[in-house]
Amino acid sequence: MAEQQWRIVKRSVDARQRELRVHLTVLVDEQGRPIPKDAPIPLYEPPVFQDVHNAERQVVIIGAGPAGLFAALTLLEHGIKPIIYERGKEVSERKKDIALLNRNEGLNPESNYCFGEGGAGTFSDGKLFSRSKKRGNMQRVMELFHYFGAPDTVLYEAHAHIGSDKLPGIIKKMRECILEHGGEIHFETKIESLSQITNHHGSADRQKSQITNSPIILAIGHSAHDTYRMLAAEGVALETKGFAMGVRAEHPQSLINKLMYHLDISKPRDLEVINYVGNASYSLVTQVDGRGVYSFCMCPGGHIVPAGSEAGSCVVNGMSASHRNSPYANSGMVVQINPEDISGKDPLRGLEFQEELERLAFEHGGPQAQAPAQRLKDFVEGKPSKDLPACSYLPGTVSSRLDQWLPASIGKRLQQGFRDFDRKYPGFLTNDAVILGVESRSSSAVRIPRDPETLQSISTPNLYPCGEGAGYAGGITSSALDGINAALKIAQFI
Ligand SMILES: Cc1cc2nc3c(=O)[nH]c(=O)nc-3n(C[C@H](O)[C@H](O)[C@H](O)COP(=O)(O)OP(=O)(O)OC[C@H]3O[C@@H](n4cnc5c(N)ncnc54)[C@H](O)[C@@H]3O)c2cc1C
Repeated sequence: MAEQQWRIVKRSVDARQRELRVHLTVLVDEQGRPIPKDAPIPLYEPPVFQDVHNAERQVVIIGAGPAGLFAALTLLEHGIKPIIYERGKEVSERKKDIALLNRNEGLNPESNYCFGEGGAGTFSDGKLFSRSKKRGNMQRVMELFHYFGAPDTVLYEAHAHIGSDKLPGIIKKMRECILEHGGEIHFETKIESLSQITNHHGSADRQKSQITNSPIILAIGHSAHDTYRMLAAEGVALETKGFAMGVRAEHPQSLINKLMYHLDISKPRDLEVINYVGNASYSLVTQVDGRGVYSFCMCPGGHIVPAGSEAGSCVVNGMSASHRNSPYANSGMVVQINPEDISGKDPLRGLEFQEELERLAFEHGGPQAQAPAQRLKDFVEGKPSKDLPACSYLPGTVSSRLDQWLPASIGKRLQQGFRDFDRKYPGFLTNDAVILGVESRSSSAVRIPRDPETLQSISTPNLYPCGEGAGYAGGITSSALDGINAALKIAQFI
């Protein structure tokens, strides 16, 4: 295709009409001729990281997910030393624990799909887009990903995507950059009390007092329930926030290509088009009884993965490799839950609600952590599934009556939601698709409120809650951006 020779600045696939369209914006020269892809034009201002080995100013960061890592990189740009504490392992060691998890050989509660270098974003779909355009310079996030090895497409694709095969290498390069420039990263170091940070970091009095006075960027993600509980016990202000829970649905990718693109992979011409634009995805939303029901984190050509971090719970999520070429299309299908939907006043009651459902899913799953599953049409019609279709979920599935044990506020709404989606895309509601329980960690159920001006916790000075766990971001890019913003704010103050 000719576009591969040009310098593209924007590319999007439009499947809203029956005929698929690709919109391209390319750079042209003064005569209006497309500029070749490899022409030496400056893409963006590369970052300049300073040497902070002996920097006076330092900042502690808890969590090495997108928020923590991008905060650290931004601090380096401002000559401030980042000191990161991460409960999980560095990425290559983490891979081994994830392989065990996929083979049903045990969950390491500190090293899994949620915890470890790169955070929840490392073994993910790596979709790099955010609905929010308000929070700052999203393009800078893409440029930093590109600088550390992401493909050119992240700079121009409307729905950019990296893939879980490429993300670990990018994360590793970020770590190497932080260490080379004098930052510190302490893996397998869970912070169990905010005062622990001072104790952990050596006994020399001078060093100790420096650390005590250092600002702390709290970038813990939304799965560290134990850390939320620690924060509550230490008097950090927390509040319940709206979130969403449901199931993960998986269809054959060929069916989704037909429904969304009207293309049939058995026809060579259609296959060529799919190979060019990539497997189809979808984004569905409806309202049922006053609550949103919607698809979340759709992974074309992907896999469903066990994304829990605690024993005795079953949590599913989705990821894909860069080529997105598995025969399956999966997506979270979730129901909006508002704080008033859960009784009580405890700011952490949303976590308990999530945990209850995750335990229930575990109980209804198989003895070796297989996920409870039901064919989609059976679920909507309230029938048991005698057997289950092939599925990408490596630990396996067992037939279960999700229609019976999901709380009605979620199950009934999902049933209606699937009927609505089928009206829009006839054929979506099929027994060739399967749902797995439960998709419970799509968003944070807690907010760590902060002052909008200083970005510091409203209860605890010098503490900068940021990223998904603080309840101010959702997804890789917005969390990374929130980390950048926290670091920029600190750079202004110290
Ligand atoms: C399987 C999966 C697929 C996903 N796919 C996508 C996708 O395609 N696109 C997208 O935008 N988003 C995706 N997400 C969501 C995305 O990964 C998160 O929104 C994002 O990673 C949040 O970034 P964060 O830095 O705020 O938190 P996290 O990435 O959760 O990182 C927090 C880090 O803090 C560490 N930590 C927690 N508590 C402590 C403690 N007490 N002491 C020390 N360290 C601690 C954790 O180990 C973790 O590494 C996916 C998530 C999962 C699980």
